[in-house]
Amino acid sequence: MNSITYRITGLMFLGIFLTVLILINLANYQMEMLFEEYLKVQYGTHRQFMGAIHESAAMMGLPEKEFMQSFHRSLFWVGGAILFVGLIASYLLAQSITVPLRYLSSAADAVRKGAYGRQVDISSDDEVGQLAVIFNRMSKALADNNSLRQRFLADIAHELKTPLTVIQGNLEGMLEGVIDRSDEQINSLYEETFQLNRMIRDLRDLTLAEAGQLPLEKKPGDINGLISRVLLMLEPLAEEKNIALVSKLGRIPEIIIDTDRIAQVFYNLITNALRYTTKNGKITISTDVVRKDGRKWIKIEVADNGIGIFPQDLPFIFDHFYRVDKSRDKQSGGSGIGLAIVKQLIENHGGTVEVVSERGKGSTFFMYLPFEGKNS
Ligand code: ADP
Repeated sequence: MNSITYRITGLMFLGIFLTVLILINLANYQMEMLFEEYLKVQYGTHRQFMGAIHESAAMMGLPEKEFMQSFHRSLFWVGGAILFVGLIASYLLAQSITVPLRYLSSAADAVRKGAYGRQVDISSDDEVGQLAVIFNRMSKALADNNSLRQRFLADIAHELKTPLTVIQGNLEGMLEGVIDRSDEQINSLYEETFQLNRMIRDLRDLTLAEAGQLPLEKKPGDINGLISRVLLMLEPLAEEKNIALVSKLGRIPEIIIDTDRIAQVFYNLITNALRYTTKNGKITISTDVVRKDGRKWIKIEVADNGIGIFPQDLPFIFDHFYRVDKSRDKQSGGSGIGLAIVKQLIENHGGTVEVVSERGKGSTFFMYLPFEGKNS
């Protein structure tokens, strides 16, 4: 049998058996020596005792013989009892190791078959207990990931369905002659497909970035230059809403970044600020070098005096498809993954992103990007 139970029991029992054998022999030997001494003293003899009891056996009286027999009997029973108890103890010890392992293997098999989240109830404080704790965590992480994946897929399906239904409905209307085939209509449909395409590209980037598989083309990049370029691009949008775009760019060195991806981060944050800031508002973008956790970082701030975010929404705004305004109105919101992309891209650069916001007063997004290598 190839079971650990039998192997551990066998090994332990062998150890106990050998120990008992040695102890019995030692006790027997010791007793023989003492008994010879006793006989010598008792009967006084000039014979040479060679140490073997049978040589002196002839000198024993009945009581001595009975004593020796009872001694051997005792040794036999004590040895037998120890072996019996040893066998039971070895088996129980082996069981205490293998039973939890059996629970673990059946739970692992259940997880393999799709029962994500299956937990084992092993509370010992030893290595098996630690293994159980790790297993339970792993199983829970698998369950969480699985439900996240399912939710993500359902969200994607939902997000794609809405614009596709609009496009399909309009095209059907045009084919049936119910809707005009005017340039304006075609333009609006084109706009819709453009948004759809952008969302699919964003989703692709986000999933790749989350899996750590988005290739980053890192090279020395000028953060201030990138911000200026994005601001120039968004200037017309800001003018349209009469929002002031102010930049307070500090003296910061070049750092190793994927410039396109970091530009995408700035673009997402500033378009959000524009989207959620009312007319005549102000958006300020500032950069600086700061020291945090004993390291130097480049700190980038995007602050607006727009509508702000409710405290209850703040913890979720970096989640996929999370929108404060659930109406999914195109005017008031985008795809709902802009901030998830921001967070992921910044983290892929070894940085962090935080937000401080007050409803009615505005929001400030802080990003920290590390200097490459060790900087004093
Ligand atoms: P969306 O594409 O809907 O803007 P994001 O992931 O970019 O999605 O943002 C998630 C949500 O966070 C938005 O729906 C919005 O409610 C809120 N939000 C993001 N930026 C701001 C901001 N500057 N001011 C107020 N709310 C914001």
